[in-house]
Amino acid sequence: MPSPEFRKFQKYLHDLSHISSALALVTWDQAVNMPNKGVHHRADTIATLSGILHEKFLSKEFVQLLKKLKKAHDQNELSPDQSATVRETWRTYELENKLPLEFVKEEGKTIGEASSKWEEAKRKSDFTIFAPYLEKLVVLARKKAEFRGYKKSPYDALLKTFEPEKDTEEIFMLFEELKDFLVPFLQKIIKSKIKLDPKKLYGNFPKNKQEEFNCFVAKKIGFDFDAGRLDMSEHPFTIGLNPEDVRMTTRYSEKDLLHALVGTIHEAGHALYEQGIPSKNFGNGLGEAMHISIHESQSKIWENMVGKSKAFWKYLHPKIKKTFAGPYDRISLDECYALVNAVEPSLIRVEADEVTYNLHIILRFEIEKELIEGTIEVKDLPKIWNEKMKEYLGVRVPNDGKGVLQDMHWSGGSFGYFPSYILGNLAAAQFYGAANKKYPKMEQEIARGDCTTLLKWLRENLHKYGKKYSAEEILRRSTGESLGTDHYRDYIQKKYGDIYKISL
Ligand code: ZN
Repeated sequence: MPSPEFRKFQKYLHDLSHISSALALVTWDQAVNMPNKGVHHRADTIATLSGILHEKFLSKEFVQLLKKLKKAHDQNELSPDQSATVRETWRTYELENKLPLEFVKEEGKTIGEASSKWEEAKRKSDFTIFAPYLEKLVVLARKKAEFRGYKKSPYDALLKTFEPEKDTEEIFMLFEELKDFLVPFLQKIIKSKIKLDPKKLYGNFPKNKQEEFNCFVAKKIGFDFDAGRLDMSEHPFTIGLNPEDVRMTTRYSEKDLLHALVGTIHEAGHALYEQGIPSKNFGNGLGEAMHISIHESQSKIWENMVGKSKAFWKYLHPKIKKTFAGPYDRISLDECYALVNAVEPSLIRVEADEVTYNLHIILRFEIEKELIEGTIEVKDLPKIWNEKMKEYLGVRVPNDGKGVLQDMHWSGGSFGYFPSYILGNLAAAQFYGAANKKYPKMEQEIARGDCTTLLKWLRENLHKYGKKYSAEEILRRSTGESLGTDHYRDYIQKKYGDIYKISL
């Protein structure tokens, strides 16, 4: 029986969740439904709701309760669930509380200015427009690290926002291992006699038919339309109001069927995770998804390991042929599968294939780590960026718009976010491998369009826990190992070695 204090604490958490939910709904609506003119008042609405959330979270009464319960947690007086709730709330509190209000305001203001300068710089492809603002943001990020405190690298303190259990050194080592494998492996792919041109799959795919087809596929992999929606927005995203109301979006290209399909399956991966969190836990502190790398692992499993697998394409190919006239009629299953997975070094991260994507991320991590540690300077970024692109991917960057200015992360002050994308890929390979080992017939089922076994494994081993265990603990419990590069390397080597006929 929880103490009256714990009950009061949970009541607070519930209220906070409801405000977050409302925020999520207006944010979703802004991207999906809102008329253009609504933008100004909507920005104020979001700011007010965020302010209320922040104030309530740092209110005297709540903080006193939290501190008391943290003591009880440290003295092992709480049940495992209560303990996890307090642990996670404390973590958020520490991140927020260590930053003085003046700093938060200054950071917010600088981000606002930097974001619009970044947009202008990107449009004009001129780094010098953005550079002075990026310099300010780097200074602020270093200040943030000082406020939070760190042992070795100030970058450690920034990682805490996204991956609380990881430090710079561990990520550096993982990425070095990965780079040592990926750079030469990519060269083998480029030199292979197999040449794949994904444009062969271009045709004419009417949007209304695609909408229906995307819903069909999302449903097929387990998305519950009674507890969620699929809509359209400029940038695809998923947002969970609660486990029984999960909104995802996609965007369509009438020329390229894969454009929406791959995006929808990716978002459905995020959405399945959100829907899999037990509804009874919503708002109690445990009923939330884990941090970004675990969330991203879920989207990557469905997008790449299922959505771009030979097994799933065995099921999908005839369905596409039946639904759409065009290139898929003329191209065999084997060729389709290869084309869907074509590897091609390119300039833009968000358009990159599964193999080169990681190199785009490693480059960004290396640059932002050194920026924060002060071993490189903002003014040198375009040169460093272009040299690394040449070294890792073999491509020449024609201008800064297609180079150092392409991502919005830095303009939003999000230093330390990029590594989560790769950590998600590594975790995905580990989770998928463990499920496959437990259920060796899983891929035969997927080839028949039945994805329930995989979803069941993910629900049982991951989704149902919400925030009960840390990311590292979830991984160890479900796969028996901590995060490493071996499974991912094996997966890439096998899949692409086969497609590009590379002997290992
Ligand atoms: Zn994602």
